[in-house]
Amino acid sequence: MRDYYDVVVVGGGIVGVFATLDLALRGASVLLLERRSICSGTSGKSHGMLHSGARYATTDPKAAVECIRENRILSENAPHCIRDVGGIFVSVRDEEEEYHSELVKSCKRAEIPVEELDVGVLRSLEPYVNREARSAILVPDKVIYARDLAFSVMLLAMARGAGVLEGASLERIAVESGQVVGVEGASPDGVFKIGCRGVINAAGPWCGEVASKAGLNVEVIPAAGVMGVANANLTRHIINRMRPPSDGDIIVPYAAGATIAGTTAKLAEDQDRIEAGEEDVEILLQECGEVVPALRSVGFSRLYASVRPLIAKEGEEAGLREITRSFEVIDHAEEGLRGFVTAVGGKLTTGRLIAEKAVDSISQHVGVPRGSFTERVRLEPPSREEALEIEAMLRAGEVEGPIERLFRDALESIDAERQTALTLPLLYAKRLRR
Ligand SMILES: Cc1cc2nc3c(=O)[nH]c(=O)nc-3n(C[C@H](O)[C@H](O)[C@H](O)COP(=O)(O)OP(=O)(O)OC[C@H]3O[C@@H](n4cnc5c(N)ncnc54)[C@H](O)[C@@H]3O)c2cc1C
Repeated sequence: MRDYYDVVVVGGGIVGVFATLDLALRGASVLLLERRSICSGTSGKSHGMLHSGARYATTDPKAAVECIRENRILSENAPHCIRDVGGIFVSVRDEEEEYHSELVKSCKRAEIPVEELDVGVLRSLEPYVNREARSAILVPDKVIYARDLAFSVMLLAMARGAGVLEGASLERIAVESGQVVGVEGASPDGVFKIGCRGVINAAGPWCGEVASKAGLNVEVIPAAGVMGVANANLTRHIINRMRPPSDGDIIVPYAAGATIAGTTAKLAEDQDRIEAGEEDVEILLQECGEVVPALRSVGFSRLYASVRPLIAKEGEEAGLREITRSFEVIDHAEEGLRGFVTAVGGKLTTGRLIAEKAVDSISQHVGVPRGSFTERVRLEPPSREEALEIEAMLRAGEVEGPIERLFRDALESIDAERQTALTLPLLYAKRLRR
């Protein structure tokens, strides 16, 4: 690790890793600080869905347009992290059937490809979907393996010279004459001080805490969501309830033997300790079970939870489901601190775009070109040799130190059931140790 970087990125979720890659590709020296491990926050505990935008088309058109655009970009650039299973919206009640035409119109307006699906065809495609289903449409929702994506991004960023420090928590942002001059933090090796010209705050639901280290106020609404994992293959497609966003409206066929039903939404009192319990199970089985009744007899083998970093707008009163899923990039120069940018809100699906806008916002200050390359850069899966290298390492029992933490974090994440989920994280850990 050097003692000076052009930019320090705080937070190793989807926004932070893409910001790190973006800066490295634009020629900046960049260090990523993550207090736990890459993708251990919300990004590693999502619902696993690359949104087509249809979920937001009627209520949040800006977020819908962002989602379909990024859905296309990530499908093209990171095909090894995405499974194109398709998404089906299904109506099972009168009011849902009435919502059908509004949804189709809104999807078309946002340029989201949408196809009517005959209920007879639906029954043959999805035998576990409620036999009373009244109507259905097909949209390009896909499964996304966010941890694979984040580690692929980091491998490329590191190959382009980016530094990364995990287990390192940012404690203070050093300021001189209204300008960022460095950061201070704590890591297992002790306290550290690093000089820098810019800081990107990509700490997701913890953005407010990080901004406070520079004496600034960023209001984030921490909206916790719980998901239930059923150890069964119940659907081929992602199944959405045909209604505006609400609790228990999506079922994702995430991996072999792992179906994820979600989500709930409630205000988190403490974003580091979210309780998931009987009440969540009841909501998820009730609501998701109405579309896929077999879910109720299979039940959940485990629950996991995470927190949405929603944007709090002054004077705006909205329920947790109504707050926009779009994002905001705040250049704090307007409040008198140059070189500090916060990127907050959005979706896993739009993390690349959020990072691009955050880097654009700090580019002039740190002297790198405006205009990102991440839209065009191809991310690679591990080669056969690399996969064999990792397999040999596992067989030899070479798992120690930070690799143990990767295992632990993977087991707490969305990927506990995916057998191949450790290849990219281990490859990354191995490169890091070199
Ligand atoms: C229940 C739920 C389900 C969701 N499902 C989907 C979905 O299916 N599809 C979709 O597109 N979106 C989904 N989302 C939204 C999406 O997951 C988030 O918007 C996105 O992952 C946020 O990424 P991020 O990088 O901003 O934050 P995070 O992934 O939380 O990353 C922030 C990182 O900052 C680190 N950090 C915090 N403080 C510090 C510090 N002081 N120093 C150093 N590091 C620090 C944290 O450890 C963390 O790793 C879901 C959200 C929730 C809550």
